[in-house]
Amino acid sequence: MSKKIVVLGAGTGGTIISNNLRRHLPEDWEITVIDRDDRHIYQPGMLFVPFEIQKAKSLVRSRKKYILPGIDFVIDEIIHIDSEKRKIRTKNHTFSYDFLVISTGCKIAPEENDGLMDAWGRNAFTFYSVEGADLLRQKLKEFDGGKLVLNIAELPFKCPVAPIEFVFLADWYFKKRGIRNKTEIELVTPLTGAFTKPKASAVFGESAREKNIKITPTFELNEVNGKEKYIESIQGDKISYDMLVIIPTTIGDEVISNSGLDDGIGYVPTHLNTLRALKHDRIYVIGDATNVPTSKAGSVAHYEADVVVFNIMAEIHGIKPEEIYDGHSTCFIVYSKGTSSLIDFNYKIEPLPGKFPLPHMGPFSLLKETKANWYGKLGFEQLYWNVLLAGRHLGMPPTLVMAGKEVG
Ligand SMILES: Cc1cc2nc3c(=O)[nH]c(=O)nc-3n(C[C@H](O)[C@H](O)[C@H](O)COP(=O)(O)OP(=O)(O)OC[C@H]3O[C@@H](n4cnc5c(N)ncnc54)[C@H](O)[C@@H]3O)c2cc1C
Repeated sequence: MSKKIVVLGAGTGGTIISNNLRRHLPEDWEITVIDRDDRHIYQPGMLFVPFEIQKAKSLVRSRKKYILPGIDFVIDEIIHIDSEKRKIRTKNHTFSYDFLVISTGCKIAPEENDGLMDAWGRNAFTFYSVEGADLLRQKLKEFDGGKLVLNIAELPFKCPVAPIEFVFLADWYFKKRGIRNKTEIELVTPLTGAFTKPKASAVFGESAREKNIKITPTFELNEVNGKEKYIESIQGDKISYDMLVIIPTTIGDEVISNSGLDDGIGYVPTHLNTLRALKHDRIYVIGDATNVPTSKAGSVAHYEADVVVFNIMAEIHGIKPEEIYDGHSTCFIVYSKGTSSLIDFNYKIEPLPGKFPLPHMGPFSLLKETKANWYGKLGFEQLYWNVLLAGRHLGMPPTLVMAGKEVG
């Protein structure tokens, strides 16, 4: 057997798994990771940029710096995946593989939303790109009261807690600027509440009520009208705004659909527990590119990488991949500058109260607003750049741990 692993995408998942594989496989295994540019973005920081908690330029670093020696990092556009011949075509090269890891993520596509491009940058903004978050920072600074609407255009979208964090931070920010009493904040979502999981959704919904933030659920966006400043649902409901912050329709990368590997909206049908592509041998999928029903989050990509490394090594040794992954996801939820909550859940277990990561000791509290959680959120950035991206472990299994959770 030749010995080549190709990783598509050097974002969160692709960098972690390339480094993790390099640590585990002998040198005669070639590892190649391909991305279209050398800009690794710390995406959680994009939430902070509009509120001047973090600077946009601090979020971007060279990918190369975070990829271990002994890995071939190629900057190129991936054009086609041939799963039969096990070949990858990029703009400038062709690569063959024995195992492929797809970690091409997902991206916002504002052009998919009717009317949005007319309002884009005038009265409709996003924080789901570094440039967008920085523009929103300037516009929020000029905002002098009125109605701020945050709309999620469509499911699925990346980081399902980010919208609720944004409206919580907007409440804190407008209070700080002394204009909260002349500002309305409304979260308009296609979900049935503030979040994807009912129990956590009820907790966040109660916090929103306390902060006088309106939540309008089950709103399926049909159109943005930037001229008259309203959004309209498929059912014909209209919600007016002075400033729209939107998470546009999110799609998987075109290379997935152009290669015939997608589920219709650009994601790869993936086994829930082995993370192997359902219809293709020797292809594994991690991070936002999968269609598995858990959050599209960096923590998920990190947990999944451990499982995929295990299963690729199992296959190399002639053993069937194991059904290990359980949908585990862990996310901080910022409540204000200075406090945060935390959730930890999987496909079956909803977020529960308790302590994390050490059972009964924490230092973090689950489903509870605390200062310690805020420091955890801040400290997470250093952990991300220096520990997690390197494919290192924190001594925690990739699956959910029940110890420390309060059940019932
Ligand atoms: C505002 C915001 C806040 C967030 N906060 C959190 C948080 O607090 N906690 C958390 O866990 N997660 C958070 N996330 C989500 C997290 O950042 C993503 O889920 C994570 O980065 C997914 O990793 P990935 O490897 O799947 O995709 P990415 O990191 O996006 O990487 C995909 C890579 O593939 C490359 N690529 C794609 N197609 C091609 C192609 N055709 N050719 C070449 N290269 C290609 C892209 O350039 C990109 O580098 C947040 C996201 C946003 C937007």
